[in-house]
Amino acid sequence: MRYLILSDIHGNLPALQAVLHTAQPFDAIWCLGDLVGYGPNPNECIERLQDFEHVSIVGNHDWGVLGRADPFVFNGDARQALIWIQGELYPENREYLAALPTIKEVGDFVLVHGSLREHIWEYLLDGEYARKNFLFRDFKYALVGHTHIPVTFAWDGERDVARVVVPDGETPLQLGDHRLIINPGSVGQPRDGDPRAAFGILDTETMRFSFHRAAYAVEITQERMRARGLPQRLIDRLEVGR
Ligand SMILES: [Zn+2]
Repeated sequence: MRYLILSDIHGNLPALQAVLHTAQPFDAIWCLGDLVGYGPNPNECIERLQDFEHVSIVGNHDWGVLGRADPFVFNGDARQALIWIQGELYPENREYLAALPTIKEVGDFVLVHGSLREHIWEYLLDGEYARKNFLFRDFKYALVGHTHIPVTFAWDGERDVARVVVPDGETPLQLGDHRLIINPGSVGQPRDGDPRAAFGILDTETMRFSFHRAAYAVEITQERMRARGLPQRLIDRLEVGR
């Protein structure tokens, strides 16, 4: 099976469409949370995902839109976008988000938005955070999102460290005996300096995971955000990928 691994779509439909096109062929999608937040097309992104066989979990912005988080844990721009989305979301799409689990296990893989310790909120920003999560519970491979930065953490039990492996172009990662935490990066709001939409492909026959990027018309997303009165800073950051 070829799985398309998506995270942090954030209501950016042009980015999602580019990824769905570039990633073909795939058998199913695993989505790691934050379907909404920041971007101009929350309903369309939730609906588009459902065109495919998929597994999905909930992220912190989805949580915020559902009113399950104090809005003041989000910064001003994110909060303004959340309030706008709350007013836009169709009831059936709200129900879809409300039914999502915070963690999902599929075979050897655990899917969470943030971390194993704190499914929704913790950012796995460096090797030390990753180390604590490798020690926290037993798992072989974890797929996470939330930081919007593609990265792999590889557990080295002998030295008691989690090594940080930055994706090398599109060279696939061979999954073997080593425990791994993999972040495919963000579809809708990349933060690693590359504005192209990020995604992963997991091939369970060859047991390879590859990191990919898809260029999309950033200006179309920006124009829609402007038309909806979303914050300028959120509009600007898309073209620099920060
Ligand atoms: Zn996010």
